[in-house]
Amino acid sequence: MQLERLLQKHGFGTRKGCRGLIRNERVAVNGELCDDPFADIPTDNLVFTVDGVDWPYAEFASLMLYKPAGYECSRKPQHHPSVLELLPVQLREREVQPIGRLDEDTTGLLLITDDGQLNHQLSSAKRKVPKVYLATTKHLLDQAQIDQLLAGVLLNDEPEPIAAAGAEIVGENLLRLTVTEGKYHQVKRMVAAAGNRVEALHREAVGELVLPADLKPGEWRWLSAADLQKLG
Ligand code: URA
Repeated sequence: MQLERLLQKHGFGTRKGCRGLIRNERVAVNGELCDDPFADIPTDNLVFTVDGVDWPYAEFASLMLYKPAGYECSRKPQHHPSVLELLPVQLREREVQPIGRLDEDTTGLLLITDDGQLNHQLSSAKRKVPKVYLATTKHLLDQAQIDQLLAGVLLNDEPEPIAAAGAEIVGENLLRLTVTEGKYHQVKRMVAAAGNRVEALHREAVGELVLPADLKPGEWRWLSAADLQKLG
């Protein structure tokens, strides 16, 4: 693919703007400076560098973000900044969007992509992708609440009770809850229906993909082929 086109595809502005970056010697291809905007670059295992920052060639931009509290998962947020503001402008140019939503005050693993098929696969109710949350509760947890969550609780706008795929007490006020749906405020509403209240919520995992311990709030990382495999 022509270098100029490649940069444009990755969100570095207009073709003319990309040509300027290349001609001004701000772009390297697999570690080698390249100042020819029309150079034909093989895309296999390609990493290009712009102003010292490495970008793997990616047909789609798919990544994980450690969502901090205080951000909304919408492209058009109402009261708080959008999580997309935590990403470089080049990714926002690619029109990435969160896969499902976390509440403004929820922290943890958020997947973001411009791959419509991946988004659809992971959001599809049929696929029942497990999402694992750690909920800090206002009141002490007990086995009766766990039994209720596992048996199913009725939420006000749902025709059928919804059962957690997993629920365990991991601290006096700390619950690990796995759900396979993605309904609005689902965890908070389920815990309330079981007679408790969520005071803080954190998502630890989606499918087999666990939030990496070395990723800090506000940081993001590309999804590797292995990560994508863990998402099924
Ligand atoms: N359930 C909730 O209640 N909130 C979230 O952010 C995610 C799941």
